[in-house]
Amino acid sequence: MSVGGFEEYMYNQLPERQALVEQTVADLPEPEVNTQSQHDARRAICETCPSKTTFTGVDLCTACGCVIYFKTWVKSESCPESKW
Ligand code: SF4
Repeated sequence: MSVGGFEEYMYNQLPERQALVEQTVADLPEPEVNTQSQHDARRAICETCPSKTTFTGVDLCTACGCVIYFKTWVKSESCPESKW
């Protein structure tokens, strides 16, 4: 089966597009990460917060919609209710 026209053009673009996506991801800055104790302190606050919910086994913050596990690791993140 052969493809032609627009489909062939798009198919031929794939390697270049993939390389562009890979380079863009590689150029993203690494987020600054908290220490384990900083992470634990934030998690402890979230554990008792009424805005925390669990959906399919994942803890989520209903105030901002973030996954709490990741949010509490990233140094630049902040609690939307100013609890940490
Ligand atoms: S980030 Fe803040 S508002 Fe969200 S669950 Fe944690 S303590 Fe509560």
